[in-house]
Amino acid sequence: MATPLTDQEKRKQISIRGIVGVENVAEIKKGFNRHLHFTLVKDRNIATPRDYYFALAHTVRDHLVGRWIRTQQYYYEVDPKRVYYLSLEFYMGRTLQNTMINLGLQNACDEAIYQLGLDMEDLEEMEEDAGLGNGGLGRLAACFLDSMATLGLAAYGYGIRYEYGIFNQKIRDGWQVNNTTRPLGLAPKTFRQKFKKTSTVVLAMPYDTPIPGFMNNTVNTMRLWSAKAPNDFNLRDFNVGDYIEAVLDRNLAENISRVLYPNDNFFEGKELRLKQEYFVVAATLQDIIRRFKTTKKGAGARTSFQGFPEKVAIQLNDTHPAMAIPELMRIFVDIEKLDWDTAWDLTKRTFAYTNHTVLPEALERWPVELLETLLPRHLQIIYRINQSHLDVRTSLFPEDMDRLRRMSLIEEDGGKRVNMAHLCILGSHAVNGVAQIHSDIIKTSVFRDFSELEPDKFQNKTNGITPRRWLLLCNPGLAELIAAVIGEDYVKDLSQLKKLMLLVDNEAFIRDVSKVKQQFFTLKYKINLKISLRQLIYYEVNPRRARAGQSKTILRFIFYVILCLPLQAAPGYHMAKMIIKLITAVGDVVNNDPVVGSKLKVIYLENYRVSLAEKVIPATDLSEQISTAGTEASGTGNMKFMLNGALTIGTMDGANVEMAEEAGEENLFIFGMRVEDVAALDLKGYDAMVYYKRNPELRCVMDLITSGYFNPKNPDLFKDVTDMLFKYDRFKVFADFDDYVKAQEKVSKLYQKPKEWTKMVIKNIAASGKFSSDRTISDYAREVWGVEPTDLKIPPPSEPREAIDETAARALNKM
Ligand SMILES: *Cc1c(COP(=O)(O)O)cnc(C)c1O
Repeated sequence: MATPLTDQEKRKQISIRGIVGVENVAEIKKGFNRHLHFTLVKDRNIATPRDYYFALAHTVRDHLVGRWIRTQQYYYEVDPKRVYYLSLEFYMGRTLQNTMINLGLQNACDEAIYQLGLDMEDLEEMEEDAGLGNGGLGRLAACFLDSMATLGLAAYGYGIRYEYGIFNQKIRDGWQVNNTTRPLGLAPKTFRQKFKKTSTVVLAMPYDTPIPGFMNNTVNTMRLWSAKAPNDFNLRDFNVGDYIEAVLDRNLAENISRVLYPNDNFFEGKELRLKQEYFVVAATLQDIIRRFKTTKKGAGARTSFQGFPEKVAIQLNDTHPAMAIPELMRIFVDIEKLDWDTAWDLTKRTFAYTNHTVLPEALERWPVELLETLLPRHLQIIYRINQSHLDVRTSLFPEDMDRLRRMSLIEEDGGKRVNMAHLCILGSHAVNGVAQIHSDIIKTSVFRDFSELEPDKFQNKTNGITPRRWLLLCNPGLAELIAAVIGEDYVKDLSQLKKLMLLVDNEAFIRDVSKVKQQFFTLKYKINLKISLRQLIYYEVNPRRARAGQSKTILRFIFYVILCLPLQAAPGYHMAKMIIKLITAVGDVVNNDPVVGSKLKVIYLENYRVSLAEKVIPATDLSEQISTAGTEASGTGNMKFMLNGALTIGTMDGANVEMAEEAGEENLFIFGMRVEDVAALDLKGYDAMVYYKRNPELRCVMDLITSGYFNPKNPDLFKDVTDMLFKYDRFKVFADFDDYVKAQEKVSKLYQKPKEWTKMVIKNIAASGKFSSDRTISDYAREVWGVEPTDLKIPPPSEPREAIDETAARALNKM
C-alpha cells in the first residue's frame, strides 16, 4: 500500500483539493483576467498584489453565487426545518482559500495562478482575518457553520457585524499595546427595534456571507446585523444646535454594532453589551418569524404557530443571546396573542442552550435595574417565568427554601440580578456541555438542582473542529498523504482515519509522516519571533543533541509556570500584560544566552489569530493542554494539534479526557490532579508555599523571577504575578508542577527515538476522527434539533450565467 508517490503522481491522483483539469484552469484564468480588467479596471502593468487578490476572490465568488441562490431556492421549495445558530461571535478567519477548498477549486486555482506567473501564497496572505470572535467560542461557531453546510442542514448563523473585531495585538519592548482592525461585507434590508430608556429606534441591516459546504453544492448563509439609525432619526427640532445634536445622536444608535467586547470568559456587565445582546436577538427573531410565516403561497401565508418547533430550532451559543427567550415570549403573547402556557410550551421546544464554562466570573448575571430601564417588558416576562417556575418547585419541595433561592432566576444578594444561565435552562428543551467531563460537572455542580429535576434535559455534545480548514487547508501535505493511503472519503467521515492503524508499523508510511512534519520545521522559522496570550511556543533548534544541562532543566520549569499563567488573565488587562512581559523577559535572557540561545528560543507569537493558528499548528510537535482539571470546558486547540500530528502533554480536563480515551492513555502524556483530586485539595485547603518548600526546582524558578533575574533594572516588576501564584492562585498551579516535570521527562525520552515518536503521532492522528465538528453537528442534529443530516447534493448550477432566472430571483426575495 504505502509506497511513496512522486509529487507528480500525487498531483494526478489526489483530488481532495479539486481536479486540476485543463478546462478548469482555462476558465479560472479567463475569469481572473476579466475581473482584473472589468471589475478592478487594471492591467498587468499597474495591478498591485491587492488587485490580484481581489481578481481571484471575484473569480472564486462567481462559482459560489449560483450555488448559493440554488440552495436558498431549494430551502424555499422544500421548506425543511431550519436550524438557527445564535452567537455573539463568529471567528471566521480568512475565506478565500476555504471557499476554493470547499468548492473543489484549490488545485485548479493554484495551477491557474502559477501559469499567470503569480504566487498563490502571496495572494492568500493579502486577506485580513474576519476577527469577529475572541477565541474558542467564536471559532466553534465558525467550524459549526462549515459542518452544517457540509451535512446539508438548512442552517443559518446569526450574529453581529462588528465594525471593529478583536484588536490586532502589538508588542513593544515586551509590553502589549493594542491597535484596532476593520472587517468587511455586503448587502441591505432592515428591521426596527426599540429600546425603552431613550425610546430610540435602531435599524438592523443584514450583511450576508455565503457558507459553502464541502463539495456538495450547498451554500448556507451567515447573516450578521449592523446597527443603523433611521433616516428620520430624531430630526424633529429644527434649530441648528438641535440639528447637530440629532446628527451626532445617530452615532449613539450605530454604536451598538461598533465593537466586539474583548472579554473571553469574563462577564463585564456593560450596558452597551446588553444592547448588543438584545439587538441581535430582536433582529434575528423578526427574521425567523418572517421566514416561518412565508410558504410557497407567499409571505404571511402560515398563520398558526402550533407547528413552530417542528419548523424552527434555535441554538443559543452560551447565554449571550439568552434574551431570545423572553423576546420570543413577547412576540407570541403580545403580538401574536397566544395564551401564556401555549407560548411557553412552544418557546421551550424551540430553544436549546450550550454552556461553555463553569468559571463563576464568566456567568452572565444582568442587574435587574439595568433591565428595568432598558427592557422593562422583558423583565416583566422574566418575572412571570420565574413565578411559575418557583410555584412548581415550591409544590415539589415545600420545605426547602434554600433550594428555591438557589434555583430562582433572580439572585438577591448584592443587588438583584437575573441569572441568565437559569433563564436558558428553563426556556430550553435541551442543555449541553461541550465535553463529557464538562457535561458531568455542570450536572453535579453549577446546575445540579436543575438536573435533579429534569435529568433528561441535560446532554453532552463534545466539541469538534472542521477537518476542511484544520487539515486540508492548513496541512495539505498531510491531507494528501492520508488520502493516498486510505482514500479521500475521510474528509467527510473523519472516523475513517482509524484505517491508518493498519500502517502504524509500515516503514515507508512512518518515513512519509515524519517528512511531512519536517516540511513545517523550516516553516517555523518563517514566522517572526512572536507569541499569543495563550500560547508559549518554545522551539529547540537541534533537539536531538540538546537534551541535558542544568539551565535547560530550569528553563523547562519556567515554561511550565508561564504556560500555566495566562489562564488567570481574564479579569483584568493588568495581569495579562504582566504575563506577556514576563514571557518576553524570559525570552530576552534565553535567546541572548551564548550557550542556551543557540539551541533554544523562547518566542511570543504576537497577534495570535485563525490565520496564524493555521501556520503554527501543523508545525508543532508537542501540544500543551495543561489546565487545572475541571477548569477548561473542552478546548478545541487540543483537537487541531492532534489531527495535525502533534503529541499532547495534558491534564485530565476538557476534551483531553476523550482524546486519551480514543488514542489510549499511553499515547498521550497525561499528568496532574484529576477533578476528584482538585476537590479533595479544595477541602484540605491549597497552600502554594507547601509546594514551593517541598520542590527545589520550583523554588529555583520562583526565586529567579523574584530576584529580578529576568528584569534587573526593575527587580520588582513581576511582583503581582508572583504574589498571585503564592497567595491567591485559584488554579493551584504549583500542585501539578512535580508531575508535569515527570511527564516532560517522558516526552524528552521519546523524542530521542524519532521512529517511536512518529508511530505515536500516527496513532494519535488515527484516533482523532471523533473530533470532527461533522460528528458534533450530526449529534446536535439528531439529539437536539430533530433534523437529519443528508448526503443529498443540491444540483449544481448549470451555467453561472443562467443561474439568476425568474424563480431564483423570486426565491431570493423571500430569503
Ligand atoms: C481554536 C482556536 C482557539 C481556541 O483554542 P483553545 O486552545 O481551545 O482555547 C482560539 N483562537 C484561535 C485563533 C483558534 O484557532
